[in-house]
Amino acid sequence: MKRRPLLAGNWKMHTTVIEACHLAAEIGKCSTALDDRDVLLAPPFTVLSEVAHVLKDSKILIASQNVCWEEQGAFTGEISPTMVRSAGGTAAIIGHSERRQIFHEDNEMVNKRVHGALRFGLTPILCIGETLEEREGGGTLKVLEEQVRGGLAGVSSDGMAKTVVAYEPVWAIGTGKTATKEQAQEVHAFVRKLLAEMYEKDIADSVRILYGGSVNVNNVDELMAQADIDGALVGGAALNAESFCRIINFT
Ligand code: PEP
Repeated sequence: MKRRPLLAGNWKMHTTVIEACHLAAEIGKCSTALDDRDVLLAPPFTVLSEVAHVLKDSKILIASQNVCWEEQGAFTGEISPTMVRSAGGTAAIIGHSERRQIFHEDNEMVNKRVHGALRFGLTPILCIGETLEEREGGGTLKVLEEQVRGGLAGVSSDGMAKTVVAYEPVWAIGTGKTATKEQAQEVHAFVRKLLAEMYEKDIADSVRILYGGSVNVNNVDELMAQADIDGALVGGAALNAESFCRIINFT
């Protein structure tokens, strides 16, 4: 099945308002002719609406880097799905390894966030990935299965059809070490097979599975050529307009 590629930039905790507007404008300029793929930016919460405003005439999608499961209330430091939508966002990154590792978010919390996003009409981008220790101990697929099953617990077929999965090996994020195309493809095929067990095959076949972990201008083409890699979640290289433009223009 042909899936529409999705190239996503995660700006993490970078950019002031002025920097974000400038970067967004530069990326907007190089994305005008891209009709066969989706491009998405996940800026910090503080600049979501500014970036959405700068890109209002483009097709670039906006996502938050996390999202709460409640619409409002006493959740200091969180952002609600309604707030993301009101700022111009249509998607939310959930379960990024930095949230899991530094802020101790577990599969149960990730799952609540996925449900929250879906309930309020945001596309969840569910991140999964093993640590180096888990990979070297032979536990990669087991950990990923737990993250997929845990993160998607109770998600209906309809919800799954709207969800994006991002495989990001923790050891490859921000390290300059990319998974080889074979390593990435193996995991993506495994995740798709697992989704086919959990849902209908046509849903598994249509879900986009992104690869993330030191994607750059030199490796994007070979990663994107893999059968089950449907896009990229890009951190460092998304902070530079020139490199992100090259990435979204992958061949
Ligand atoms: C990320 O932030 O999701 C990521 C993959 O970062 P990097 O591209 O810098 O490894």
